[in-house]
Amino acid sequence: MSMVSPDTTQRLRITLRGAVQGVGFRPFVYRLATQLSLTGWVLNSSGGLVVEVEGPGERVREFAKRIEREKPAASVVTARASAWLSPENSASFEIHFSEAGAVKTVNVLPDLATCPDCLKELLDPNNRRFLYPFTNCTHCGPRYTIVFDIPYDRRNTAMRRFELCSKCRYEYDNPLDRRFHAQPNACPVCGPKLDGTIQEAAAAIRDGKIVALKGIGGFQLLVEARQAEAVARLRERKHREEKPFALMMPSLEMAGQYCKISPAEIELLQSRAAPIVLLQPKPGTDIAPNVAHCSPYLGIMLPYSPLHHLLMRECPFPIIATSGNYSDEPIAIGNEEARTRLAEIADHFLMHNRPVVRACDDSVVRLTRGRAGVLRRARGYAPLGIRVKREVPPVLAVGGHLKSTVAIGVGNDIFLSQHIGDLDTLEARHAFERAIDDLCRLYSFQPEAVVCDLHPDYASTQWAEKSGLPVIRVQHHQAHVAACAAENEVEGPYVGVSWDGTGYGLDGAMWGGEFFYVNGDGFNRIQHLRPFQLPGGDTAVRQGWRSAASLLFEVFGSSKDANARNGVPHFSPLLREVGTTDSDLTKIFSMLSRGINVVSTTSVGRLFDAVAAITGLAHENRFEGQAAMLLENEIGAVRTEESYSLRSGNWDPLIREVMGDVETGVDRPLIAARFHNALVEWILEVAATAGLRQVVLSGGVFQNRYLVERAAAKLESAGYQVFTHHSVPPNDGGIALGQIAIESLQG
Ligand code: ZN
Ligand code: ZN
Ligand code: FE
Repeated sequence: MSMVSPDTTQRLRITLRGAVQGVGFRPFVYRLATQLSLTGWVLNSSGGLVVEVEGPGERVREFAKRIEREKPAASVVTARASAWLSPENSASFEIHFSEAGAVKTVNVLPDLATCPDCLKELLDPNNRRFLYPFTNCTHCGPRYTIVFDIPYDRRNTAMRRFELCSKCRYEYDNPLDRRFHAQPNACPVCGPKLDGTIQEAAAAIRDGKIVALKGIGGFQLLVEARQAEAVARLRERKHREEKPFALMMPSLEMAGQYCKISPAEIELLQSRAAPIVLLQPKPGTDIAPNVAHCSPYLGIMLPYSPLHHLLMRECPFPIIATSGNYSDEPIAIGNEEARTRLAEIADHFLMHNRPVVRACDDSVVRLTRGRAGVLRRARGYAPLGIRVKREVPPVLAVGGHLKSTVAIGVGNDIFLSQHIGDLDTLEARHAFERAIDDLCRLYSFQPEAVVCDLHPDYASTQWAEKSGLPVIRVQHHQAHVAACAAENEVEGPYVGVSWDGTGYGLDGAMWGGEFFYVNGDGFNRIQHLRPFQLPGGDTAVRQGWRSAASLLFEVFGSSKDANARNGVPHFSPLLREVGTTDSDLTKIFSMLSRGINVVSTTSVGRLFDAVAAITGLAHENRFEGQAAMLLENEIGAVRTEESYSLRSGNWDPLIREVMGDVETGVDRPLIAARFHNALVEWILEVAATAGLRQVVLSGGVFQNRYLVERAAAKLESAGYQVFTHHSVPPNDGGIALGQIAIESLQG
């Protein structure tokens, strides 16, 4: 190239892959090319965004530099290829229409929150979109929830039923307009319409009614968050006992009145994804106590669609905005479906005639180690791919059972579905099947095999077995650490710490406190929590006091204990305090001593349950991980370096020390801190023994911010490189990703 004069005419083709459709990339390219007086064209193909530019060599190279540097903020380029071609003497620069066919490797974009320009128009009485609840542009609006197929063009979206009016058509066709090829472009003349009014819905909310609102990714249930009775009614009708509800705040200012918010958290709240951000509540506010019970966090989001903005203007107070469903079922998306499924829950409906193509819950994010950490990955994040170093085999992964997600491997991308929910109900299993069909169709993907969990009773495993495809089984805790390693592009060897509530082990036991020495595709289980018996198996997952009873029984002995009175061991009063009866205990001790109906477990989640019960904090989990969350919350502002002993995962000394502290009346926050610190010490001990410099932390237990941040800080100051989850949940929502990642390591 250096031999050629800078003025010689050259033609360059650039292909960009990633999230490059529906973000204003083509108008940007058009403006850049015309500004540099280059000719050629740009095209959105299903293989990516393709540009050909022709002109003096120097300016072509400038174009190539600036296309990367100045690209639209919402775009994500994951791969780029370029090739020099023979000049064609093209006369102008044009935007070509999309072509069908080719390999579908273009990312579908997630839904984006209303941009400042659209918000301004929405509230401007002189604008033709004044108060129009479906306003959007190339920088914002629905994407993933309206697309049927790619390429992302209006004819492939739920907007195809709305014929553009002449004004909208002009915007859509004008490369210099903010709405150039904005597929969901609409206005009050031609676009979707509300069925009902915002004022009626707002009045119902003010009256303490439950309102079902058709949002971006499906129906939400809205309730005034300061009215405890209304909140109680929602809990009762939705069959949701204590799991915290998320809130929508009308403004950032009001969010700041209720919660402590750091600058990084403000950024998250205002990001394009506009997720629910878990924040520390300020004490003494008027939020009803039954919104989040004793949760250490309040989940807060800001309005992210014009409809939400308009509604919140009529409701200048915090409202609960939760998924339109029963308990852990999938969210309702269709109007008729909502009328049927939500009939017993909602008092009032606010719907519209823009179809929601697929369900997408609000995402949940928390700041972890100074960065966003996704805990539920859905609206705003799905279906962005996770780019991985190695090419992945064309397999489908069906994930776990709780917090289900599915994934497919395409080239160097793993596409993870949005959060589907727990697969306990028929509804959820249908949603799971839809998510599989959906991902495969969007990417014209034909799986060669299906990867599932080892657990024979998971609905996902059973689906895999009936799929007719070759089945590959991956151990649950290995999948957890592989997911974390994949998202952080960690190449082995590393120590993988995999802690959660429950998962099927290679020996058939209930694992959840595992350490792996990982090298290539080899997972060597180098340590684990000392096993203990779980009386009643899965029942004990809910009834955490059973874990306490078992550990106390192991450590202090049975009713033959010298301190026992009336055949009941001396520690029994403790368990009675948390709601256990003597007859419960007698039954449990008999199960334990005879080894009947017990399951062996190494789960750290169950150890949390036990300590929460022994300290009188919680005797059961009314939602997954509740006791652990309460124990973390208990630490509060306590800072100590003291810790119990959990050397080599042996809980015997730890249980003795916890009991000692409980009996001598040590403050519970201090007990909670010493317990968490013991877990961190154990990680340090194993890392030192393994002699590796990289440590990967994964599994639901690492949703615990105190634990993950302390473990990371301690390990880092000891010279380790620590990898934790950020773009994929540490809980079972990340299993599908790990299943494919492990498959890519084979051979
Ligand atoms: Zn906009
Ligand atoms: Zn219009
Ligand atoms: Fe798990």
